[in-house]
Amino acid sequence: MPPPEMHRTDRIGWLRAAVLGANDGILSTASIVVGVASAESSREAILVAGIAAMVAGALSMAAGEYVSVYSQADTEKADLKLEEAELIRNPDDELAELASIYEKRGLEPALALEVAKQLTEKDALGAHARDELGITEIAAANPLQAAWSSAAAFAAGASAPLVTAFFASGAYMVWLVSAISLFALAVLGGVAAQAGGASIVRGAMRVTFWGAFAMGATGLIGHLFGVNV
Ligand SMILES: [Zn+2]
Repeated sequence: MPPPEMHRTDRIGWLRAAVLGANDGILSTASIVVGVASAESSREAILVAGIAAMVAGALSMAAGEYVSVYSQADTEKADLKLEEAELIRNPDDELAELASIYEKRGLEPALALEVAKQLTEKDALGAHARDELGITEIAAANPLQAAWSSAAAFAAGASAPLVTAFFASGAYMVWLVSAISLFALAVLGGVAAQAGGASIVRGAMRVTFWGAFAMGATGLIGHLFGVNV
């Protein structure tokens, strides 16, 4: 028997979340450091702004992720409860509903009804959850875990421009922070593309282009403010 083919979608979920968090951390922190440094601020001001950006970003990622995962799980739970009640109150209608779903997917009416009957006997709620509501993993997502992991990913990404800013000296800081951040973005973009089975070069280039654009824009704004204020 040949081995089953490897699907990439399973492991892409958490990796995608981690890469997105790290991307955000790199890009927003680097942009703020570049912007503040371009305004010819003191070293302390630049570092304080960078650290504040990291903390604020990580917390806002955590809060956003918590709310989103929590409300998603909440909605699914409510949907399942509704379905459960409906299955008790109206088993015949629910069976017909399930059969019509399979019919629409291409089964003949008699076969669709038979499939619906057998699945209902085995696990009625599971069948409705999957095929009617599209819920495959019941209560799989943990909001707290999602919150912490995206905050950690953001902070890890933010540390690249921050550590660079800490060690770089005055005149070169903007260029070094930009270069190292763009490099980190390119590596992450490549990793994400590789994991997703997409082109590594294109994945790396896309994120690097937009990264350079964002840093250039904030650098310009910082420069204009630094000159005019
Ligand atoms: Zn149903």
